[in-house]
Amino acid sequence: MKNSFLLVAFSLLLSTSVFAFQDMKDIQIEVIPVNENIYMLKGAGGNIGVSIGEDGVFMIDDQYAQMSSKIEEAIKSLSDQPVKYLVNTHHHGDHTGGNSNFEKKETLIFAHENVRKRLKEDDKNTEQSGLPIITFYHKMQLHLNGDDILVVHVHNAHTDGDALIYFPNSNVLHTGDTFFNGMFPYIDLKSGGSVAGDIEAARAGLLLINASTKIIPGHGPLASYADYEKYLNMLEGIQTNVNAAIKEGKSREEILADESLTKDYITDAAAEKSFINGPKIRGTYYDSLKSED
Ligand SMILES: [Zn+2]
Ligand SMILES: [Zn+2]
Repeated sequence: MKNSFLLVAFSLLLSTSVFAFQDMKDIQIEVIPVNENIYMLKGAGGNIGVSIGEDGVFMIDDQYAQMSSKIEEAIKSLSDQPVKYLVNTHHHGDHTGGNSNFEKKETLIFAHENVRKRLKEDDKNTEQSGLPIITFYHKMQLHLNGDDILVVHVHNAHTDGDALIYFPNSNVLHTGDTFFNGMFPYIDLKSGGSVAGDIEAARAGLLLINASTKIIPGHGPLASYADYEKYLNMLEGIQTNVNAAIKEGKSREEILADESLTKDYITDAAAEKSFINGPKIRGTYYDSLKSED
């Protein structure tokens, strides 16, 4: 008890926003069964994927540091084993914030080389802790819990370090933030993301799976093949519309203000309170597509 209090106090010191921390105090982890031995954990930050079995607990992403003990508690309800392996789908803090805590418990952390690079270069990581110790460039496989887990890099999509994780036997795909289910995408252009790459990532993901695959998106509810296809359709449709507007000579301001470019997919009113609203996504598309020509 004393230890977890110290951990919480320490996290509070590290937290850049005390308010964000206080908000998280009340957030519980929801455990959602996906298929066979795979579960999705919802809390604060990106959706976690967990594979349970006799080889140990394999986890995909770990939300924020303040959530680590709650995540461990939730996993305890599924398995008596510790988290042995952890893969980060990309470097963002809502997917890697718990790395240092799990590292202390001897969890082995894997990620794309660029994820390690970005976490290492993060000025806030003065202790250089929680860095992935096994990295890959293209793909890797883990043969665990009766599955041949495929971890495959998709280039310059949401960031420059994204990975899709596919469990062929359980028929589950974790997309990381290359898929925001029911929302506009977030494409982090400053971290090497691009519209073209994000579209390619969704195409690659859809090629890996089949109509009955269950999909854990980076954010939003558990998804079906149809949801994922609809998302790709939106990514491509906005690309066509914004490209046409650029060709017509529309300025960035005009594109930002033009709801007709995106409203067939999500209206500005529906996205008003979202992290990525209508003007934001139109701006991202403009900046990314402009830099491609
Ligand atoms: Zn995220
Ligand atoms: Zn992200």
